[in-house]
Amino acid sequence: MTQKELYKSLTYERKNVYEKLTDEQKQEMLAFCEEYKTFLNSGKTERECIVMAEKMAAENGFVNMDAKKQLKPGDRVYKINRGKNILLAVIGSEDIEDGVNVIGAHVDSPRLDLKQNPLYESCDLALLKTHYYGGIKKYQWPATPLAMHGVIHTSSGEKINICIGEDENDPVFCVTDLLPHLAKDQMTKKMTEGIEGESLNILVGGMGIYDDDVSEKVKFYILKLLNERYGIVEKDFISAEIELVPAFRARDVGLDASFVGAYGQDDRVCAFTALKSIITTASPKKTAVCVLVDKEEIGSVGNTGMLSRFFDMTLAEIVHKIKGSCDLITYNRVISNTACMSSDVGVAVDPNYEGVTEKRNSAYAGKGLIVMKYTGARGKSESSDANAEFVYQVCKILDDNNIVWQTGELGKVDQGGGGTIAQYVANMNIDVIDCGVPVLSMHSPFEITAKGDIYMAYLAYNAFFKCR
Ligand code: MN
Ligand code: MN
Repeated sequence: MTQKELYKSLTYERKNVYEKLTDEQKQEMLAFCEEYKTFLNSGKTERECIVMAEKMAAENGFVNMDAKKQLKPGDRVYKINRGKNILLAVIGSEDIEDGVNVIGAHVDSPRLDLKQNPLYESCDLALLKTHYYGGIKKYQWPATPLAMHGVIHTSSGEKINICIGEDENDPVFCVTDLLPHLAKDQMTKKMTEGIEGESLNILVGGMGIYDDDVSEKVKFYILKLLNERYGIVEKDFISAEIELVPAFRARDVGLDASFVGAYGQDDRVCAFTALKSIITTASPKKTAVCVLVDKEEIGSVGNTGMLSRFFDMTLAEIVHKIKGSCDLITYNRVISNTACMSSDVGVAVDPNYEGVTEKRNSAYAGKGLIVMKYTGARGKSESSDANAEFVYQVCKILDDNNIVWQTGELGKVDQGGGGTIAQYVANMNIDVIDCGVPVLSMHSPFEITAKGDIYMAYLAYNAFFKCR
């Protein structure tokens, strides 16, 4: 062995995905990403993603679990929670007490939500009040076209789906921004204070109905239009969930079209790859489960987030339908032998902001799936720090299946940080590790991912379902 060969055998070096792909795999990667972009364009809210997931499941032999009294190996089922959270399972041939393989991703993304009494008139303009959802940099949201998605329940009991701004012929909405000419005071403020939360108001109208007896003429016209088009009145906003999201579509980025640029890739890039992985899984040994959750961006709270008992209850129901019963001891055995890939995105080193990452331990766009032992902030707080034994097991599966992967962490120590659903999965006594796609411009209206990494995540999830 030469010194060079010895050096190579002793050191660890990241690989680039494109260095490893065969021509055939490159073609598959490109086709896969075309499908992914279509998914992103149709799934801009958690509800829309669950609709897409159910459609993909139904087209691939999955049936609603409620329709099944018993489950046997090979069965494909799903269960939906309140339209925002889904669990899909392919029943394995092994005893379920030996555990299941779970891949969990989230389908909610940062955005602007309408308040309950949103509509008002000011300066002869009609506007809607919002409360932002998740971690946004507020300056990124004004002066960009927004689309309106969501549901409204009318007083007559009807549920109306709203989607305005996605069709080329639709109008869009926006938050106006201050002209630089008059921004002298604004520009000297801290970035956190330059745009205030209460000024993220959506412009919705300016025409008005001019009747002397009506005081709010512009608001009146908007209410009249809403009533004509949707049959709603102002009070109906109270029982609505309406989200403002970027109106543009997913696009290729770069002369070599090597990236996907789109809104909501955190975490729909992992949700889509996880979904594709479970629907292409047939006759696994261990039962394969894919769970897509809501509310990750605000702490995994609520009855559709990872902290909800939905996952627990649905898994117990699966055990019950396989075994005919599910006592606590049996369930505990299932859970204790279960393992999970928490598939969430990670930060990719950005050449414009290299200073916030520590290069030896950060992930790079184009260098494959990120395997993140821990996330968290200030001394790994709010993190699930995976066991070395489980990290070894996962990395071995990835290596055995020629997956290009890399380690990652959420920025330099004490630079900031964040969490994923991993800690809540771990609390159930499940082995879990974060495995996802590196993202540039994370949480911005236009997030960037590398096509090679997207494809590697899909292959990695397949390998996990097949080999653990
Ligand atoms: Mn995420
Ligand atoms: Mn996020």
